[in-house]
Amino acid sequence: MSMLSISGLRVRYGTTVAVDGLDLAMASSGALALLGANGAGKSSTLKAVSGLVPHEGEVVFDGVSLRGMSPERIARLGLIHVPEGRRLFGNLTVLENLQVGMTAQGRRGGGHTVDDVFDLFPALREIPHQMAWTLSGGQQQMVAIGRALVGNPRLIMLDEPSLGLSPLVAQTVYEALRQIAGRTPVLLVEQNFSAALRICDRAVVLANGRAVYTGDVAGLADGTLLQNAYFGSP
Ligand code: ATP
Repeated sequence: MSMLSISGLRVRYGTTVAVDGLDLAMASSGALALLGANGAGKSSTLKAVSGLVPHEGEVVFDGVSLRGMSPERIARLGLIHVPEGRRLFGNLTVLENLQVGMTAQGRRGGGHTVDDVFDLFPALREIPHQMAWTLSGGQQQMVAIGRALVGNPRLIMLDEPSLGLSPLVAQTVYEALRQIAGRTPVLLVEQNFSAALRICDRAVVLANGRAVYTGDVAGLADGTLLQNAYFGSP
């Protein structure tokens, strides 16, 4: 059985159709990349799954339909969204942001501890009492991922975790995601498709809200399909 199953998903903003009948299934292990150009509908898909935007279609998480559920309730099921822009509590410290992750998402036990997060991102161990608003983009992303992990996610959705990071910092974040995906399924939205393809085993490519590819990342190796999805047909 799929861990996450999306069928016939449609998201509309007024007359704009952002997601147009998407089907997607994720198993209980591994990482899936949701790829596509700017405006293809990637963020809207994640927002619909986590209950943040109204949608049509069916989203089922571990056998439970999410229809009509609040974002808080969906998060408590263990379906955790790390949104674009990180959304930390700026006036809380690194440690406090991680502690909020523990309480807000309802701890089911057996998940990452704060110490595990510091093992994953040693840079954070040096600055537990630093206010979040003073952190660099990379440090903020590490805290955002750490905050998701301490909530003991059963599936993590990340929206463009490498956005705005230097290549070196992005590499650190991606190495951590590779480790996380060994333990918890990851649904990764990325503009930066080459980085995503290195850690994911499956991919869905969106164009204008529709899937133009669903399958193993190996099927994208020749690049033509991605080239068309990102830059349009020649
Ligand atoms: P990006 O990388 O730019 O976030 P994306 O693939 O995540 O792109 P979405 O953000 O899901 O795409 O946007 C899909 C479409 O919906 C775009 O045409 C976008 O302009 C539109 N859209 C997104 N959010 C809204 C909104 N709140 N109101 C109106 N239109 C929106």
